[in-house]
Amino acid sequence: MLKVTKFGGSSMADAAQYKKVRDILRSDPTRRIVVVSAAGKRDRNDHKITDLLYLCYAHTQYGVDCTGVFEMVTSRYLQIRDALGIRLDLETEFAALKQRLDEGAVTQDELVSRGEYFSARLMAAYLGFRFIDAVDWVKFRLDGTVDQETSYEALRDLVVQCPGAVIPGFYGLMPDGHIRTFSRGGSDITGALAAAALNADVYENWTDVSGILMADPRIVDDPQPIPEVTYDELRELSYSGAQVLHEGTIFPVREKGIPVNIRNTNAPDDVGTMIKERFDQDSDPKRFITGITGKKDFTIISLSKRGMSNQVGVLRKVLSVLERHEISVDYVPNGIDNVSVVMPTEAVAPHLYAILGEIQQEVEPDTLDVHDQIAVVAAVGRKMAFRPGISGQIFAALGEADINIRMINQGPDELNIIFGVDNRDFKAAIRVLYNSFVM
Ligand code: ASP
Repeated sequence: MLKVTKFGGSSMADAAQYKKVRDILRSDPTRRIVVVSAAGKRDRNDHKITDLLYLCYAHTQYGVDCTGVFEMVTSRYLQIRDALGIRLDLETEFAALKQRLDEGAVTQDELVSRGEYFSARLMAAYLGFRFIDAVDWVKFRLDGTVDQETSYEALRDLVVQCPGAVIPGFYGLMPDGHIRTFSRGGSDITGALAAAALNADVYENWTDVSGILMADPRIVDDPQPIPEVTYDELRELSYSGAQVLHEGTIFPVREKGIPVNIRNTNAPDDVGTMIKERFDQDSDPKRFITGITGKKDFTIISLSKRGMSNQVGVLRKVLSVLERHEISVDYVPNGIDNVSVVMPTEAVAPHLYAILGEIQQEVEPDTLDVHDQIAVVAAVGRKMAFRPGISGQIFAALGEADINIRMINQGPDELNIIFGVDNRDFKAAIRVLYNSFVM
């Protein structure tokens, strides 16, 4: 049994958090491979080390002395080291890095990667685990994608007979020997790659919430965590607005059928969220909706044309106008003689008049209207499929709350029910749904 664990920035923020990480690892000896983020915020007004490192690099680009910001970074690591009594000479490495930075010899990616690097060095020394550098196994191709085969093999070779290892997340090595980072939040990807390489039984992603929440906590008070979610549901939830894992995270583990468990470092007894391809047993048969999410600021272009249902090519013409303007359409609800296309306002607004003109000319509709300030809300749940009454319940609840529905859409796999409301009803719609489905 092997669990690959990844600890995010808040779990690495200070000495007290390091102790929690150690306790979590000690409580389960199968947690042998540990991937870490750079130190995150200790409280709301604090800074993430990665942000400070980007800031430091920006200073050098403008020819401004970055010593002050650099020292904010180094002092954080020295504080953690000293508070935990770890014996590790970081000062020499900090000085060498600063000197190369002043000489202009450090790239942005290399500099920001040092947040994870020093976290991992410290954590490895604290736990008595081996430090395995990401450059020794996460290998990028020239096009910036990860060469999974080579990387996996390299990690497997490195961990042979290794009782425990700590790996820095977020970066790897380019073929030319330079360090390259993933996009922000990318330590999740390193963790997933490590889990896939080692065929782990589970990939534990430790953070500061007890799993993925059923709704945005800024909208719903104290939303319940989702105990079980499939990869497909997760994709629906994140596409429709929920901020969950880093996008690239899912692929390496999903490919290998490795479940992901989101856990809370500050509440290690909570079971968190389990993400799997499918669940053979239903732990909570009464819960039909897995999560509720949504986004504001969509535009709907609607057109009607008498006899449209019998004409060939109307929809294609509308979509090709949008394609010419490189706009990706999110939903296409339609009636007998009318059709609407729904897109983010931000994408469509700069081209709106050109688009309307072209549709007018090419399709010659009887009516052509634009509605903006539309929010899209999605109720996601694998258990809604082929179960009558769920959408009835949703729309009844919204009706009772006097919320007007502007658009309805359901994917063919019945994994979600999506509807549009006015932007101003967005939060109310999410709350109404939450309160009527979650007890
Ligand atoms: N430290 C990096 C960031 O803040 C990567 C990570 O924590 O996942 O984006």
